[in-house]
Amino acid sequence: MKFQKNIPLKEFNTFGMDVNCDLFYNISSVKEVLLVLKSEEYKKNKHLILSGGSNLLFTSNFKGLILKNNIKGIEIISEEEDYIYLKVGAGENWHDFVLWTIKKGLSGLENMSLIPGNVGTSPIQNIGAYGVEVKDVITEVSGVYLEEIKEFTLNNKECNFDYRDSIFKNNLKNKTIITKVTFKLSKNAQHNTKYGAISEELKDLGLEVSTENISKAVIRIRERKLPNPAEIGNSGSFFKNPIISTTQFTELQQSHPNIVGYPSDNKNTKVSAGWLIDQCGWKGYREKDAGVHKNQALVLVNYGNASGGEIISLSQKIQSSVNDKFGIQIHPEVNIIG
Ligand SMILES: Cc1cc2nc3c(=O)[nH]c(=O)nc-3n(C[C@H](O)[C@H](O)[C@H](O)COP(=O)(O)OP(=O)(O)OC[C@H]3O[C@@H](n4cnc5c(N)ncnc54)[C@H](O)[C@@H]3O)c2cc1C
Repeated sequence: MKFQKNIPLKEFNTFGMDVNCDLFYNISSVKEVLLVLKSEEYKKNKHLILSGGSNLLFTSNFKGLILKNNIKGIEIISEEEDYIYLKVGAGENWHDFVLWTIKKGLSGLENMSLIPGNVGTSPIQNIGAYGVEVKDVITEVSGVYLEEIKEFTLNNKECNFDYRDSIFKNNLKNKTIITKVTFKLSKNAQHNTKYGAISEELKDLGLEVSTENISKAVIRIRERKLPNPAEIGNSGSFFKNPIISTTQFTELQQSHPNIVGYPSDNKNTKVSAGWLIDQCGWKGYREKDAGVHKNQALVLVNYGNASGGEIISLSQKIQSSVNDKFGIQIHPEVNIIG
């Protein structure tokens, strides 16, 4: 087994944090997962499973073992008249996989083009964009229970998918390593252009509705709206949209008529964290190399040499000001790794 020592992690996290880890292991098969979990190095050290590194923030050097999930492969496992079932290695890059499916004439993933990260992480927070969530196309998630060192497969229902949520963020948080994900994709294009921005972009580009063109439109919108981690370090949305009681929301509407929120169930309302942060005047703010993106108040950025501590300190000031102004607590969506 190839455990590497003292490995720099800057290229493995989109926030661009310049930290190291004590031990690093590049996992490329399920067999290797089982071997590593039985090793002395795994038993003696704390561990972190790392995929694309686009949803985490390192606040210091990692004193333990990083397991980099690099399990590759796309396998057709069955086919029906209208659908195809693909079992995909967790370490495949998400966007490359989306482009691969489009080239093969398959639809279902085009609205989620250009989301950073890997395939194996997609079910954890049920990634989604432009009216589509990955739960709509996942049939099974396979992996290994870390403590029992036992393989498992959960079907879609067992994953308890919800908005940016699943069993892997709750009962099974930090208890599994996901190794493969099975998708059911359509051979006959079924498009979702309910999200107005896509239709507008297609019109602007003079393109008809097709799987490939929707992907092109989504890529163009995202490139315009979101900072590219290759240019400015970031982890996408830093905070979750807070859920408050609809009674509190209605009260807030008296003093802030433009507050942005959507019912999350019949008693609660999900409020736009970006709007709250923007109203507190944070958009475009910069403190040394830690900042709030100029177009997206929800995205915290590293202009070059910010430390995890500086990003956290900025995030706490933002949390306090939102609480002072609106009486709402906002919490990080990004995984903070200390
Ligand atoms: C610019 C930008 C835009 C984004 N836009 C969106 C968007 O539109 N929609 C959206 O939903 N998300 C978005 N995100 C968030 C991010 O892309 C997703 O959360 C993505 O799924 C993270 O994947 P990753 O492979 O990078 O995960 P990592 O950051 O590597 O890991 C995230 C967490 O999952 C754990 N983990 C990783 N791999 C495994 C595994 N195989 N088994 C078990 N646990 C594991 C890690 O320990 C960590 O706690 C965006 C991020 C960025 C930087």
